[in-house]
Formats: sequence, C-alpha cells, structure tokens
Amino acid sequence: MPSDDPKTGPNNDFGMPKNVFGFLPIELSGAAVAAGLPRFRAEQVRGWLYDKLVNDLAKMSNLGAYDRIAFSQQFDFVPGELVREQHSTDGTFKTLIQWKRPTWPEPALTECVVIPDGDRYTACLSSQVGCPVGCKFCASGLLGLKGNLEAGEIVYQLFLLNQMLAPKSARITNIVFMGMGEPMANYANVMKAIRIIHDPQCFDMGARRITVSTVGVPAKIRDMAGEELSLNLALSLHAPNEPLRRELIPWASHFALQDILDACRYYFDQTGREITLEYILLHDVNDRPEHARELANVCRTIRANVNLIRYNEVESLPFLRPKSDSVQEFQSILRDAGVNVHVRKSRGRDIDAACGQLRRKAQQELIQLGKA
Ligand code: SF4
Repeated sequence: MPSDDPKTGPNNDFGMPKNVFGFLPIELSGAAVAAGLPRFRAEQVRGWLYDKLVNDLAKMSNLGAYDRIAFSQQFDFVPGELVREQHSTDGTFKTLIQWKRPTWPEPALTECVVIPDGDRYTACLSSQVGCPVGCKFCASGLLGLKGNLEAGEIVYQLFLLNQMLAPKSARITNIVFMGMGEPMANYANVMKAIRIIHDPQCFDMGARRITVSTVGVPAKIRDMAGEELSLNLALSLHAPNEPLRRELIPWASHFALQDILDACRYYFDQTGREITLEYILLHDVNDRPEHARELANVCRTIRANVNLIRYNEVESLPFLRPKSDSVQEFQSILRDAGVNVHVRKSRGRDIDAACGQLRRKAQQELIQLGKA
C-alpha cells in the first residue's frame, strides 16, 4: 500500500518517478521542497494539472528548464495510456486505459465511462483492475481481480475524461464508483482519490456529487460514515433475499445481508444521506412480482430509494435483458408500496454498454497476440 507521508507523498517501488495525480496539495508541495524546488513551483504545476488540464511539462510555460527536469525526475505525469475509445450515438463514451505501473504482471486495463445528460456529465470510474466479486452476470468479474488501482490512477481517470470533454468546454460534474472493481476492497486508495478530487486546489468536486457503490462490506460502510466527507452510498443489491443474492454475487456470502443493511442504516443515521439500492433486472431471474414484493419489504426497513437497471447482455453469459412489461410491473409494485423508485435510462447500448466488455475484448485480442 502507498504511504501517505506528507513530505514525500505516495510511495512506489523501484524509486521510479511517482504518479503526480496521487498527491494532495500539501504532499506535492512537500515533495517539491524535498527535491530542492521552491514551494510555489508545486502550486504552478497543480494549476496546470487541475485548472488547465495540461500534464505535459513542456507546455508548462511558467516553469524554467531546470524545474521541468527536476519535476520529470520526481513525478510521472502520464501514468496510463488511453488505448481505446467508443462513442455512442447518444453521447455516452467509454474509454479503455492501460496502466504503466511496472508492478503489474500483465497489461492492466480498466474502463471508464462518461454519461452526458444535459449539463450534467457523470463519470463512472474504476477502482480496481478486474473485480474480486465475480457477479455472475458481469463481464468485469469474469477475469477475476488483477490488482488495486492507486489513488493517483483513480484521479488520472477523471483527468483524462476532463481532457476529452475540454473541446466542448465541459467538465465532469458527478462521479460514481460503479466501474470495474469493488471500491470497498480498495478503500484507502479510493478515499485518498476522493480527497484529491474534492480538494479545492484540485478538482474541487463536492461530496454530494460523488457516489461510492458497493456490494456491501459492513465494516467499510461504517468507516465511510466516519469520514469527514458525506458521500453518497449506493448498495448493489440485485436480489431481495439472501439465497438468490449469494447465487448471483458469490462474494456476497462473506457478509450477511442483514449486517449490510444494518451498516447502511448506520450510514444514514450518521450522514443523513439516503441510500440508493441498485437492482439490475435479469429476465426471469430476479424480475418477478414476488421479487418486487420482497424488495418492497426490504425497503420498509431502510431509508432508501431504488434504482432499477435493465440488464445489458454480455456475450457468453446466460442472462437476458428483462421484458418491458416485467420492468413496468416491478416498478409499479414498488411504487404502490410507497418506495421511491426509478428505472435508469439505458445509455450507450450501441457501444458494449455492459461494464467490462470493452476490456474483455481488448484482453482477448492481447492474448491472441501473445501479449497477455
Ligand atoms: Fe464487480 Fe460490479 Fe462486476 Fe459485480 S457488477 S463483478 S461488483 S464490477
């Protein structure tokens, strides 16, 4: 795990330049001073990165030649490479980033997605390479967990997405940790990334615009309730009872559903933030009226709203998208029970909308080329 020494910032192996996006402002200043640079140089670099979205030292015109060399020796400004993009006709776009960290045993790829909606641009960020949870319906879980992203790699996803939006004079307005990985299984890095993203001298994004989505790790949910930032919490429930949940989400067997819901209630009590229950509807698996009634019972025990998501099919997996009638009936049953429920708009259906598909295809191609 990275150290958080305020003088030098995150550690990495091999004495290589450190990912500059993993530094809080105080850490970056400390590291610059430790390298013999004046403190204000770190402030100038931060301005280029977060205000102007420039990460090319050669373009940082207020730095002298000596400063540029010193910064390049200490910091890595390009920790990952954008290797693929897919753009949907509805404006949604998906990117695949290959991480450069030498400790990865094989090409490390993660996806992130931007979903525009009027002036709002939501980024779905990844927290891990692969995912340990192994949801039966998900492409990301198929290849297992390869490793945790560092805080700086998480922040860099947002940096790249903002760079891509710059020609439209737009920026990401909201982020959700719903991409690849289980954020609670990489808690320290995710929280540090959020602190950097939230910092007024970095991306200055308010806590209300940041959502952490988890399949439910009670101890970590309680830890998150104690953070100084009141973030939005989403619980990926996907089943209204324990047996079905364990069938769909094997990792869920580590924690009892009741314990997870207790932790969510605690989160609400501590933060006043209503929990969002995410529920992917799978045809004839969890989308029957009896499931809706069971889910309504769960909702009676917790201050939560429900987000219904129509499944996007994944090649080679047996699950199907629910029928429109079933979705409507499911929603009506919840509404009639007094639950605040929405059906999420399907976006990016023409670009492998399901999480992890782009990475899976790229990984397969690399295997065929003998690179993975
Ligand atoms: Fe992991 Fe989310 Fe996929 Fe489940 S749905 S395997 S938690 S990435």
